Amino acid sequence: AGPEVVGLEVVGISKHFRGVKALSEVAFTVEAGAIHGVVGPNGSGKTTLFNVISGLYKATAGQVVMDGRRITDARPYRLSQAGIARTFQNLRLFGALTVRDNVLVALDRTRTRFIWRYALWPVGVWRYDRELRHRADALLDRFGLADYAGATPGALPYGIQRRIEIARAMACAPRLLLLDEPAAGLNGEEVRQLSEIVRSIRDSGVTVIVIEHNMGFVMSLCARVTVLSGGRVIADGTPAEVVATPAVIEAYLGD
Ligand code: ADP
Repeated sequence: AGPEVVGLEVVGISKHFRGVKALSEVAFTVEAGAIHGVVGPNGSGKTTLFNVISGLYKATAGQVVMDGRRITDARPYRLSQAGIARTFQNLRLFGALTVRDNVLVALDRTRTRFIWRYALWPVGVWRYDRELRHRADALLDRFGLADYAGATPGALPYGIQRRIEIARAMACAPRLLLLDEPAAGLNGEEVRQLSEIVRSIRDSGVTVIVIEHNMGFVMSLCARVTVLSGGRVIADGTPAEVVATPAVIEAYLGD
């Protein structure tokens, strides 16, 4: 995995669960280095789409292409190696671990990338641990979490917990970051801080796809937005273009 900025192409993805057509021929392009929004009413297929892109679900039809390579049906750990990281709508932090250890665990999973630099030394393991701690602290600093390093996540404000999840996803040094409803449950100030964080991630050369139920957050953040309804793309374009689309207005009025 090189440092180049990557885009993503979703090509005719369908996903059926027995009788339910959760996604029908969904197609759109995510520009390299952009923040791309996927919005739609509840049940429109947003989470299913993320699960297909991140390899948790096998698509019934279609493909996902990253950096010119087909990634559909690759195992989730392969996708992680290919540079895809995601957060979940329901936070999945380790409640018994400190904030720092939550990030350390994710860093340790990337160890094959650099452990060989240390493994051959007598003091290698110690150096490796020290390097991990430096990296964890750098991530905590970067996301404004240094003050919470020793706390356990459960007692912290929701906005901070969301940030820990993002820091943990960024520990894998992804090239594509998928955020599943990152603004859910946050207050206005927390949403503002989150927007800044997502922009800074984009500015560091990571392509970001954000799923949101909340239109306002996505509209202010994203260069382009894909709108799903009933498992189909009903609009795709700049925020201004999609909000002016009658089908979008109708889908949201009926929500
Ligand atoms: P959203 O994230 O936009 O709320 P989802 O992707 O969760 O929408 O759901 C889209 C549709 O697919 C819904 O009708 C939902 O009931 C169905 N669905 C999602 N996951 C499954 C599953 N694992 N089994 C059966 N149906 C599912």
